[in-house]
Amino acid sequence: MKKHVVLYKKLSEPLLARLQAHAQVTLVADPKRDDHAELRAALPHADGLLGASIRLDARLLDLAPQLKAISTVSVGVDNYDIPYLDRRGIALCNTPDVLTETTADTGFALIMATARRVVELASMVRNGDWTQNIGPAHFGSDVHGKTLGIIGMGRIGEALAQRGHFGFGMPVLYHSHSPKPAVEARFNAGYRSLEALLSEADFVCLTVPLTTQTEGLIGKEQLALMRPESILINIARGKVVDEHALIAALQSGKIRGAGLDVFEREPLNSDSPLLQMNNVVATPHIGSATHETREAMARCAVDNLISALQGERPANLVNLKGRELRG
Ligand code: NAP
Repeated sequence: MKKHVVLYKKLSEPLLARLQAHAQVTLVADPKRDDHAELRAALPHADGLLGASIRLDARLLDLAPQLKAISTVSVGVDNYDIPYLDRRGIALCNTPDVLTETTADTGFALIMATARRVVELASMVRNGDWTQNIGPAHFGSDVHGKTLGIIGMGRIGEALAQRGHFGFGMPVLYHSHSPKPAVEARFNAGYRSLEALLSEADFVCLTVPLTTQTEGLIGKEQLALMRPESILINIARGKVVDEHALIAALQSGKIRGAGLDVFEREPLNSDSPLLQMNNVVATPHIGSATHETREAMARCAVDNLISALQGERPANLVNLKGRELRG
């Protein structure tokens, strides 16, 4: 008999057909509505779950007694309680690699947009306020040749380093759990403590996962170490930064600007002070949001789930390493 999959994110027709060839699929169209009512109704029959952007905690997953695997359409796994999944023997799979280059592109878009004030000045033109040649009050700062600081030298961090080093002639500094000799050789990159990186880099880019260690990694003290002309770029997760402290640092001119794709609360409240600041470029969590990459992520998630439900080891298993999977 086919396994039962609860899908809480829409798939393209070819991917849905691929999943349906292996499983009976229930689509939950609006999983967050009414305290996840539709999702909660579907969970009791679920062998597998596929979706993204919902915190699937014990309160919800206790409703799914036969659940064997969750396939998230994301590389970040901060929406999951991994010790809980381990206890229940539920496999968790993610979608690394396929989104690396696109997310690094987003990081560079934010670097360029903040340094060259693209959004602010394009709005000036659009609003009909470009009435004379612009002068120093509207000048930006160079990107090429400036120091790129990367916090979290993993897949996306490396893709950023590649762009900075080869494309923009930027000296690269990085901070990670551990030094990476291969990265240092390839990009002529220098390992730094967090404190040293913050005080030396012109662009401080966050590419760490959200974990108990990285939550609030950048707070008031860390922002105080950054130079007044430096810019913070966050393409990791909102909670890696203390948003309140960031707002204060931007308001007082402690740092020049911020390019933010992620926020403590998403969607960002329309009354957030961040939206009143010309030196902030805010995007709606678009790190991997291109047609090509989102389709590749969904394909990867479908393949992971099909493997897991067949009792095979999926290509991108996050937990249960070294344990038998329940098919
Ligand atoms: P990855 O390859 O696992 O890289 C993460 C890096 O962070 C690793 O190099 C790791 O260091 C480092 N790290 C982890 N904890 C640290 C800590 N406490 N202090 C210093 N460094 C630490 O992951 P990835 O594929 O590059 O993705 C990174 C994150 O980006 C994801 O988890 C996700 O949250 C976020 N992301 C966001 C978007 C978006 O839409 N904005 C899109 C994709 C991903 P070691 O290698 O030394 O362990």
